[in-house]
Amino acid sequence: MPLDTGTRLGPYEILAPLGAGGMGEVFRARDGRVDRIVAIKVLPQELFEDAERRARFEREARILASLNHPGIAVLYSFEEIPGASLVPPSASTLHILVMELLEGETLRAALGGAKLSTKRALDWARQMAHGLAAAHEKGVIHRDLKPENVFLTKDGRIKILDFGLAKLTQAEEGSSGTNLPTQTRGTEPGVVMGTLGYMSPEQVKGKPADARSDIFSFGAILYEMLSGQRAFHRETAAETISAILREDPPDLSTTNQNVPPGLERLVAHCLEKNPEQRFHSAHDLAFDLESVAGTSGAPIASVTLASRARPRLGAAFVLAGLAAAFAAGFVARGFRAAPPPPAFKRLTFRRGMVWTARFAPDGQTVVYGAGWEANPMEVYLTRPESPESRPLGIADASLFGVSPTGELAVMLHAHTSARSYERSGTLARVPLAGGSPRPIIEDVRYADWSPDGRELMVERIVAGKHRIEFPIGKVLYETTFRIESPRISPRGDLIAFFEAKGDFTVIRVVDLAGKSRTLVTLLDWWNLAWSPDGSEIIYAAPETGASAADVTSLQAVTLAGKSRLLLRFPGTLELHDVSRDGRILLGILRFEYQLVGLAAGAKDGRELSALDGSWLSGLSSDGKSILLT
Ligand code: ATP
Ligand code: MG
Repeated sequence: MPLDTGTRLGPYEILAPLGAGGMGEVFRARDGRVDRIVAIKVLPQELFEDAERRARFEREARILASLNHPGIAVLYSFEEIPGASLVPPSASTLHILVMELLEGETLRAALGGAKLSTKRALDWARQMAHGLAAAHEKGVIHRDLKPENVFLTKDGRIKILDFGLAKLTQAEEGSSGTNLPTQTRGTEPGVVMGTLGYMSPEQVKGKPADARSDIFSFGAILYEMLSGQRAFHRETAAETISAILREDPPDLSTTNQNVPPGLERLVAHCLEKNPEQRFHSAHDLAFDLESVAGTSGAPIASVTLASRARPRLGAAFVLAGLAAAFAAGFVARGFRAAPPPPAFKRLTFRRGMVWTARFAPDGQTVVYGAGWEANPMEVYLTRPESPESRPLGIADASLFGVSPTGELAVMLHAHTSARSYERSGTLARVPLAGGSPRPIIEDVRYADWSPDGRELMVERIVAGKHRIEFPIGKVLYETTFRIESPRISPRGDLIAFFEAKGDFTVIRVVDLAGKSRTLVTLLDWWNLAWSPDGSEIIYAAPETGASAADVTSLQAVTLAGKSRLLLRFPGTLELHDVSRDGRILLGILRFEYQLVGLAAGAKDGRELSALDGSWLSGLSSDGKSILLT
């Protein structure tokens, strides 16, 4: 219904038309009561002929109006304006949506048929993903996400428009043909196709849409932002539908050299035909986008991976990953200036066991393999700004390492041999952005990526001997003693490892020709990693003679065997990884012992612990007192 400037709809005065879409016309208007400029969308009359439908619309609009997120255009209200309160008056009642007025342009206009820089595309995609996540959390699904419904404000903010509207305008799920988006009302063929081109396969098939359908549409938009080409747009609607159902768009790398592989995989993960295989939530998607955004800068030089397995007897403990800043130790080497004290940041907050943790290529995201509470081992992702970790959804897996190109080496189906420390499992590769793990070889104890991310080093036991192979199949070192924590140097020319010889342990390096030498002799091993420039090996070890006091020292040893102390810590520290800018990923092991008494006949045990770590030493003959240490 075209409305002239100056027309009044109750409290609203029409100022100017803003645009028209499949669902009606949009106007700039003033709300006279609060003197606020708003956008008003006048909805087609026939939608409200049915009272039940109108009630549903109202209910849903209330949920939408409760959404409060910077990535979503605010819906102020859904209103019914009787014809009599129109100036000039009209015979018919109007139904309008009153929205936040946005200044700027739609994403469709902003794209203008060209591709964006990766940086800009990531920025906009991130904002969109966070907006989607906020709505999905409230159970609101967009269902018609497309560049026309995404707005770029003048100050560079992304706002999603028309959230849930497609749903509001559709009949109940399942009735025929109604799942098509709003633009099917449009007459311009290009409009119809443009819309269709962002629909998920399940929507095209007329099946119910859920959050994952929005993720598909999001993927199609992100693809377009990065390539400048519509992912599924074809000449006719029938061809477009067929493309959505059956075709993958051309690889992003063919249209845009600058797309990091992690981002390409992320887009592909959004565009999976089967919703089961997509990101399961926009929250996960936003999380991964943040990680990719961090990696899209300079090319990654090195820092690679391995894993370790080590006996941990009984008891529950809390393990925290910490990043300790000790960059000054490297930068100021040669000086005698005192380095600043390290700063710590805790990354995990659950009870359980973290086996291996690594920095992702962005140096911020941390990937780790852990068994939390009584759960089986899984691979998780976390970032320093968030107290949350999210599982990557790889069943029965722990981590070996992360490649500089964002690929994971994981340990599947870990099993422990009779000698409890010999934990091994199937080595498999899987992209950080998701997918099915691809098994490589079995019974691997440690694995580490070469600095270019092409080859893997493995440590395994063959015919009773521990051996390091790099690349897989080429034996560089073999011993009857235990090898622990082998890691490839940043230049890829050396492998450092512990060799546990019973009463003592040595750190050794072996070169690619198999020549090896000992750098330092220790009492025990506790994991190692290379310094970013490859000049030192950082390791954590229990302090000599101080095991009762439980003090760990973090040391660095040069290739010439010269050691220096980086940090002393009251507690058991495990070294997991060192980032390229010199931050360290540490685990803190804490064993907690609890004493519980169960009286005869009682159903529940009673906490008897006193202080931290109570051990039962004796029970009085009358059964009324216990002796504890
Ligand atoms: P659909 O009906 O499928 O959403 P559409 O997005 O093309 O299709 P409308 O949502 O009706 O059409 O919007 C028409 C145009 O009005 C938009 O393209 C946009 O330019 C403008 N518009 C919509 N909402 C606002 C708003 N809140 N602030 C400013 N402009 C808006
Ligand atoms: Mg719209």
